[in-house]
Amino acid sequence: MGDCIFCKIIQGEIPATKVYEDEKVLAFMDINPLNDGHTLIVPKRHAETIFEIDPQDLIATIKVAQKLAIAIKKALDSDGMIVVQLNNKAAGQMVPHLHIHLIPRWENDGLQI
Ligand code: 5GP
Ligand code: ZN
Repeated sequence: MGDCIFCKIIQGEIPATKVYEDEKVLAFMDINPLNDGHTLIVPKRHAETIFEIDPQDLIATIKVAQKLAIAIKKALDSDGMIVVQLNNKAAGQMVPHLHIHLIPRWENDGLQI
């Protein structure tokens, strides 16, 4: 936890472009966006993966993901939205603090993922 980059963002120790915050959840823009509007949603209480997270924290996080997915789709007029969450290095997780990606998609945006 001491070295967790997302905990540092939550604590305000390193900067991020925050888009939503409540008691349990923070959302901020991805530093290396795969598409316009790429947003990350994290529980404030550190949990590495879906395997460890407290279910109430997970519920709070996915509820915010839904709310922001709707808001971002409308604001950016996207045609669709990828909602994805990776667990452990073998699955491609780079930051070991659970996060949900929101990646807006447009028809013919050419994104290869
Ligand atoms: P993962 O592969 O773990 O699901 O993705 C981690 C995501 O976190 C990547 O999309 C990466 O660009 C993003 N990321 C890594 N470090 C930082 C950071 O310091 N600030 C922000 N805003 N995003 C980060
Ligand atoms: Zn953390």
